[in-house]
Amino acid sequence: MSSLRFHAIKESLNRSPLKVIEKGRRSAIYGSNVFNDSTMRQSLTKDAYKSVKDAMEKGSKIDRSIADQIASAMKDWALSKGVTHYTHWFQPLTGATAEKHDAFFETIGNGMAVENFGGNQLVQQEPDASSFPNGGIRNTFEARGYTAWDPTSPAFIYETTLCIPTVFVSYTGEALDYKTPLLRALQAVDHAAVAVAKYFDKNVKKVNASLGWEQEYFLVDSALVAARPDLILTGRTLIGHSSAKGQQLDDHYFGTIPNRAMSFMRDLENECMLLGIPVKTRHNEVAPNQFELAPIFDEANLAVDHNSLLMDVMDKIADRHKFKVLFHEKPFAGVNGSGKHNNWSLSTNTGVNLLSPGKTPMSNLQFLTFFVNTIKAVNDYEDLLRASIASASNDHRLGANEAPPAIMSVFIGEQLTKVLNELEGVTKGKLSPKEKTDLKLNVVGKIPEILLDNTDRNRTSPFAFTGNKFEFRAVGSTANCANPMTVLNSIMAKQLIDFKTEVDKLIVGKDMKKDDAIFNVLREYIKTSKRILFEGNGYGSAWEKEAKKRKLSNNKTTPEALKVRVSEKCVQLFEVLGVMNATEIHARYEIEIEEYALRIQIEGRVLGDIARNHVIPTAVKYQNILIENVQGLKNIYGKDFKSFAKEQLKLVEDISKHIELINSGVTIMTNERKKANRIENSIKRANVYCNKIKPYFEQIRYSCDKLELLIDDELWPLTKYRELLFTK
Ligand code: ADP
Ligand code: MG
Repeated sequence: MSSLRFHAIKESLNRSPLKVIEKGRRSAIYGSNVFNDSTMRQSLTKDAYKSVKDAMEKGSKIDRSIADQIASAMKDWALSKGVTHYTHWFQPLTGATAEKHDAFFETIGNGMAVENFGGNQLVQQEPDASSFPNGGIRNTFEARGYTAWDPTSPAFIYETTLCIPTVFVSYTGEALDYKTPLLRALQAVDHAAVAVAKYFDKNVKKVNASLGWEQEYFLVDSALVAARPDLILTGRTLIGHSSAKGQQLDDHYFGTIPNRAMSFMRDLENECMLLGIPVKTRHNEVAPNQFELAPIFDEANLAVDHNSLLMDVMDKIADRHKFKVLFHEKPFAGVNGSGKHNNWSLSTNTGVNLLSPGKTPMSNLQFLTFFVNTIKAVNDYEDLLRASIASASNDHRLGANEAPPAIMSVFIGEQLTKVLNELEGVTKGKLSPKEKTDLKLNVVGKIPEILLDNTDRNRTSPFAFTGNKFEFRAVGSTANCANPMTVLNSIMAKQLIDFKTEVDKLIVGKDMKKDDAIFNVLREYIKTSKRILFEGNGYGSAWEKEAKKRKLSNNKTTPEALKVRVSEKCVQLFEVLGVMNATEIHARYEIEIEEYALRIQIEGRVLGDIARNHVIPTAVKYQNILIENVQGLKNIYGKDFKSFAKEQLKLVEDISKHIELINSGVTIMTNERKKANRIENSIKRANVYCNKIKPYFEQIRYSCDKLELLIDDELWPLTKYRELLFTK
């Protein structure tokens, strides 16, 4: 057997689960490595504590002397836990998190040293950030990038470093990261939602967007991955014949978690507890060796940070357990890919979930208001929402016969569909007392009861209402949640602003009662957003046809989807809300389109390399064995040899055919790549990569996979699907 694969299999079979010892209750260690509320209360002066709280809740500025106090308290707390370094922790547009560690340690002359950390170091840093993607922003303006403390996400200790969550902006204030636009979008939705919520409760002062993500991933033995250059370099297998047994039997989903995976999960959960990531759920997913992890939902900015941090932590813990975590949306052809459901809702400072039906008709009208506005927002910006989750890797799910489709639609369930149908029939203008009573008692008033038994969840919907939240299921498993969350909260903010304007116009201009005005506006929204509602099978081709009739977008590739981001309508949306200006939007578009082309380019190179340097030489080796065999038969049987060597000869020919297809395919693909790389315009280049180069992948893969079936298993150099997917 080929040596690397042979060793990999042997190694992976000999592994046993790592012993994980949990010390005490999880609730007792929860957040112990976080500079959280209780730590702040203990270690800060009253003024400093209040100042941080105000910054968190009202976005107010923290003054320099107070920042010094906070820094000093943070430092003491960190030193007491054996920490030596600090870092500004941020999320540049590479998709990974970034950190540059500095020691607290400082010399003060005369051979003496102290640990030092002041407000200046806490509040702002200037990392040498010239290699982070900036879409031209820094080139045109200023070379420097700054990180600035985000007090709404608490500092935490990871390993021996104090990590301070920060935004990353250019000298001129343009966002160079994921967090900055997210914070602005959250502020926009806060203001807009408070204004609308005040129709129902004057005491509402703040509305937080909540996010509960569910992270899917594959766990594969690291030795087996080591024998797959494609997994190492691209995160997915570029070739590999499907295993005889795949997920047909559905025997993995919610099955018993294998011992080694369980030990990894417990270790991970332990670490999450220390970091204050409230993980709650773990289970097997549909595909073999695929799993899911989900926390209790949190305020969106914090939840986004937690997800980014979690992905880093998962990598590290996996190393310890000799696993590799595959976050890619489609690591294996023919088996389920991975996503990251984003459960989203809005909640008030008074403790009300605005997307949850309440106890009174009034609170249910509030629920309906936010519910219908969400539907309208998605309807109006469905293509932008699609763009927010576009990536080369997510293209393998969206629009590629896999969940969910590239068409955005909203699932609300039979019961709420009925409610909306009734509301659609509401009289135009002022409502009669009878109609109002009737609505309140029989339509709006009945919502909580009907939702209790509303269990029919449509798993094929990309955006589904699930009782007290919407679940955005089309987000990719590698994605930074900030991107879809920025878009979702922005379109909701815009929608709520419009709603408030329209309702107020009816109240003032048409002398309507508040409820009448709300019913009137909601009725129109229901009418105009109907096309986005879809309850059927989202994967079927019938829906594709129907969606086309409804003029819903169906952008199957990233270059197509991303275009929407720079449309006039979308640029205006972000500009009006102050979430991003035109420069920032174009820069992001440029970065994403560039990244797309680069990813396909890397995949093309790796595929070419594997096909030529691994597959073809192996095929030739095996073909030589066959030829030797044929020659031997000829020696024995003379001119009659053909009747004994018929099948061998056929194999020899088949192998030659596939070698030819592979080699010529790689040659053409490489030439196309060379041509593509000469294209100056990044958008054109990305399109060529998408439409002219990527199609060769399938063709080359087809022959490689055929050869895998023909060639002696002992010679095959790459770990096979059955080994990657079924080794526990
Ligand atoms: P599943 O989709 O796997 O059936 P659930 O719907 O029960 O699971 O919950 C999935 C996620 O939704 C959990 O991570 C949970 O924290 C989150 N969640 C629950 N309620 C809310 C809410 N109001 N806002 C945001 N996320 C929520
Ligand atoms: Mg879910």
